[in-house]
Amino acid sequence: MKTVLVAVAWPYANADIHVGNITGSYLPADIFARYHRLKGNRVLMVSGTDSHGTPITVRADAEKTTAEAVYQRYHRRFIDLFQAAGLSYDLFTSTHTENHFRVAQDFFRTLQSNEYLYREKQSVMYSEKEKRFLPDRYVEGECYICHYPNARGDQCDQCGNLLEATQLINPRSLTDGSTPVPRETEHFFLDLAELSPAIDTFLSSRKEKWRPNVLRFARNMIGEGLHGRPITRDLDWGIPLPESGWEEKRLYVWFEAVIGYFSASIEWAKSHGEPEAWKDWWYNPEALTYYFIGKDNIPFHAVIWPAQLIGASRLYAGEKDGVLNLPTDVPANEFMNLEGKKISGSRKWAVWGLDSIERYGPDPVRYYLTINMPESRDTDWDWADFLRRNNDELVATWGNLANRVLTFAHRSWDGRVPDPGELRAEDNELLAKADRAFPAAGSLFEAVQLRAALGEGMALAGEANRYLDQQAPWFQIKTDAPAAAKTIFTALRVIDSIKTLLAPMIPFSSEELHTGLGYSGRLFGTQKIEERADSLGSRPVLTYDPAGAVGTWEPSRLEAGQPLAEPKPLFRKLLPEIVDQERARLGKSSG
Ligand SMILES: [Zn+2]
Repeated sequence: MKTVLVAVAWPYANADIHVGNITGSYLPADIFARYHRLKGNRVLMVSGTDSHGTPITVRADAEKTTAEAVYQRYHRRFIDLFQAAGLSYDLFTSTHTENHFRVAQDFFRTLQSNEYLYREKQSVMYSEKEKRFLPDRYVEGECYICHYPNARGDQCDQCGNLLEATQLINPRSLTDGSTPVPRETEHFFLDLAELSPAIDTFLSSRKEKWRPNVLRFARNMIGEGLHGRPITRDLDWGIPLPESGWEEKRLYVWFEAVIGYFSASIEWAKSHGEPEAWKDWWYNPEALTYYFIGKDNIPFHAVIWPAQLIGASRLYAGEKDGVLNLPTDVPANEFMNLEGKKISGSRKWAVWGLDSIERYGPDPVRYYLTINMPESRDTDWDWADFLRRNNDELVATWGNLANRVLTFAHRSWDGRVPDPGELRAEDNELLAKADRAFPAAGSLFEAVQLRAALGEGMALAGEANRYLDQQAPWFQIKTDAPAAAKTIFTALRVIDSIKTLLAPMIPFSSEELHTGLGYSGRLFGTQKIEERADSLGSRPVLTYDPAGAVGTWEPSRLEAGQPLAEPKPLFRKLLPEIVDQERARLGKSSG
């Protein structure tokens, strides 16, 4: 049994989540977690709402409300979406909790006592009009690396490089368009230059396994030379420093949000009445730790978070002195576009997660986002392609296969799995293909090649369709009933196997089919929304209860005589009209 941490990107609480975000990090993480759960491994999948970013204060200013109100609103919408999409977080919490405040402050103190923090006066953009320092995200200007005209003060959306706001060409304040000026202020810095050799050693140890684009980006950052990076800000929304005299400043969100992986693991352990259990994922050197993020987050997860982990070694370790576990892999995805254009919430060029699931159900959306996952290059959400894949693949190849076999079995063998007697060579051949699909798909899941893993299950469905066409049990039954029983028994077993192969991707219909095949119990545990409260307020969290899960990563062992449930179609065919309807919505519906 392996111990697997599934660490999922923390969504910023300043905008709704669109399909590109889902396929970028949240869905691949869930698929990976569900596969490992079926394998019987010990999975901890954690994330939460990133509630302190300046994007949230920017939005609060624009709406004339509080940052807290903005965070609460989006946090609740994230929870609703993830529940509806079946994203099975063991814990989806937020950074605005007492627990996270304490853990982030402890990280700060440990880095300080390990001598990886230093104080320095820094030049920061200051608005003379508003009489305050402007967080990097309040400043926009031309990127001094690639000359993209609308680069943010902290990072360029075009070239992906981290930026210094004071070096932007033609800077402007996002709040009022005025020109900010650099002014001195004192901050704590993380000594990345000092940590650089250790990060380099860490990256070298990962070079065989990581996606080449992730490794290349990280190696380039080291190659260009790492510099100290401020971990505090002149801001009032966020986590206070555990230092007197610094009451006006807060921990910088890039520093504390990634600590959320760690603090959420601790919150999960406490809420399970095993307060030390998190250590299995963070100190056990055998544990596997995977970080699911979009490519814009590579710098923070492949370089800076490992630096924080190395620098904070011995945190809460007691007698142990090892470093905290560094990422086993950071399988960052590329971007998904929409109808050939970059997805943009502000231009309303987006398909929102909640809308799409409300209209089409979770599994058709999950299927399309998996088959189209931007694992190695940017992909495109195209409504005509969505229609085609739903109707030709999900409905015709898979749903109809399951439905017509179950319906025929139900009608012809009195609602039970038929007794096949001795199987024929062609039956055994198909069953052997199903057996082989498990190790083949399994190694793809483990390598986070999820499109290809889905392909294994769908290819087997194609094989099963060909087998049925050849056998034609609907005619067989009139002339050779024992042959028809062999065919349907074989087909039911293969369908049962395909159900398991596809369950990580399309869990809702797989659960339905599991019941349809006459099993009791569920493949997976249950997700639920819980309300939690502390001195910072109350908030919903998403939790996963594995109790009652019976799914295992094994070929079907379906036996003759098992009673089958009344068959129901798993998916619905969509009308061609939806393509025009959906295209007409683009650019109009806001999130
Ligand atoms: Zn740039």
